[in-house]
Amino acid sequence: MMRFPLWLLPLTMVLSGCHSFEPKVEIVPWKGDKKAAVALTFDDWTPGHPAIVVPELQKRGMVATFNIITTTVKDWEPLRHAASLGNEMANHTATHPHPHGISFIEEISGAKEKIEAEIPTQKVLTFAYPYGEATDSMKAYLNEKGYVAARGTSTPMTDPDFTADGQDYLDTKSYSVMSETTLSDYAEQLAHVKRVGGMLTFLYHSVFNDSIRDFSYAWVVDSIFQQQLDTLNSFDLWVGTFADIVGYHQQYTHTKIEKIESSKNSFVFRLKESQDSLQNRSCPLTVTVNVDDAENIIVEQNGVTLPVKVVNPQQILFDAHPNKGNITLTKIPFKF
Ligand SMILES: [Zn+2]
Repeated sequence: MMRFPLWLLPLTMVLSGCHSFEPKVEIVPWKGDKKAAVALTFDDWTPGHPAIVVPELQKRGMVATFNIITTTVKDWEPLRHAASLGNEMANHTATHPHPHGISFIEEISGAKEKIEAEIPTQKVLTFAYPYGEATDSMKAYLNEKGYVAARGTSTPMTDPDFTADGQDYLDTKSYSVMSETTLSDYAEQLAHVKRVGGMLTFLYHSVFNDSIRDFSYAWVVDSIFQQQLDTLNSFDLWVGTFADIVGYHQQYTHTKIEKIESSKNSFVFRLKESQDSLQNRSCPLTVTVNVDDAENIIVEQNGVTLPVKVVNPQQILFDAHPNKGNITLTKIPFKF
């Protein structure tokens, strides 16, 4: 594109009128402006996870959260590989104890140290309660240590409130996928979460086939598992790690748009996070803007141009960080 010739400026001002540029700017509840978010979580790192789950996710460009019992892992290389693909390796204690009469602090802190030592790229951000047994003291401990979220096992079928809105992040409910879960049960959960616009967390254990005899608990056959992933894909939801989804939601609920200034061709605002909900681990939030001419908007944060997705002629989307400087939307008056 050529430089904009300054002699055209008066003409542009006449054509664009004299009011200032006031686009409608909003932060969307889920990344990429998807209708809902789905976290796939896999407990106990059983043989089907590296052999079946990780490659099937990779084929579909999906990521998941694996909850690791650290003393049961004999080879950490497959976990490092899974983490390198964007999967989250999360804390499921050192030995999977019941919480009564044990030192859960050692169980939790020891497992976190082990995971972070064996997988240097992985910061442990979430936890899964062994047997789903959450206690107030464990929750207080996780909160104090800066965990983003912890997952329980309460089945959402009996509890209508399994979306992230208003729920306890440190005891997030989940839908257990069992051997007897039908594809229509699965699709029903997805249709529900898409309708209510919340978060759905699936809890898996074993996934098996003829060569991978993974029958540790609640085993799901490989072929059904693949159909479930394809069904999930067809719903066009945000499939992210548990830490990313809950982190996004926490940050979203604490961030507001604050206008700084506007002129004829530009609008400046910032994303102001009222509390440091992620303790300095800010993740980008997706912003949607309604404009007259979506093709001709440049978005910058701190002078750096951000990638923009044109959704339709009147709408753009982009990701920007809260509390990381002003965001400027500029109209390009002419293209040559
Ligand atoms: Zn477990």
